[in-house]
Amino acid sequence: MGLRYSAYIESPSPHSEVDSSDYLRTNSSLYHLLADSRRMHFSHSSQGRCHRECSNSKFITYGCRRCRTHLSSSTQIMSKDYRGKTGDAYLMGEVVNVIQGEVETRPMITGDYIVCDILCHWCKSLLGWKYLESERKDQRYKEGKYILELQTICRCE
Ligand SMILES: [Zn+2]
Repeated sequence: MGLRYSAYIESPSPHSEVDSSDYLRTNSSLYHLLADSRRMHFSHSSQGRCHRECSNSKFITYGCRRCRTHLSSSTQIMSKDYRGKTGDAYLMGEVVNVIQGEVETRPMITGDYIVCDILCHWCKSLLGWKYLESERKDQRYKEGKYILELQTICRCE
C-alpha cells in the first residue's frame, strides 16, 4: 500500500532531539481545561457484566492517522482513562517516531507537569504530549510516558 515506516515499533529509534523552534503552539489554554482530567468511572456492575478488555486481546499497532507512521502498540497502553485536547486519550509507555515540541509547565487537574507536545516526525501532526516531570510524588509514574490522543492515531493492520 506504499505505507511509509521510518522505523518499526520493534526497534525504537533513539530520541530525536529536534529543535522545534518553528513549531507554533496551539491553543495551549485548552490543555488547562481538558488535559489529564480523568474520566469518571461508571461501574456497570449490574448483573456483574464487565466489558474490560482481556489480556489476550489482539495485538494492535497504532500509527499516525494522517500518514500511518508507526507510533506504538497495544502492549504499551498503561491506561485508557485519559482525556486529551481532542477527546479520549491513552497513557502509553513507549512511543516512537515522534519529535518533541517546546518544553513547558502545564497545570493539570492532578498538579503541574513539565511536558512537551509530541508530533509525528513525518507529517508533523500533533499527537499528544510527553510527561517530563511532575511536581507531585504520587504522579511521578507518568514521567517519561506519553499521551496519545485517539483522534490523531489509527490502528495499523
Ligand atoms: Zn504522521
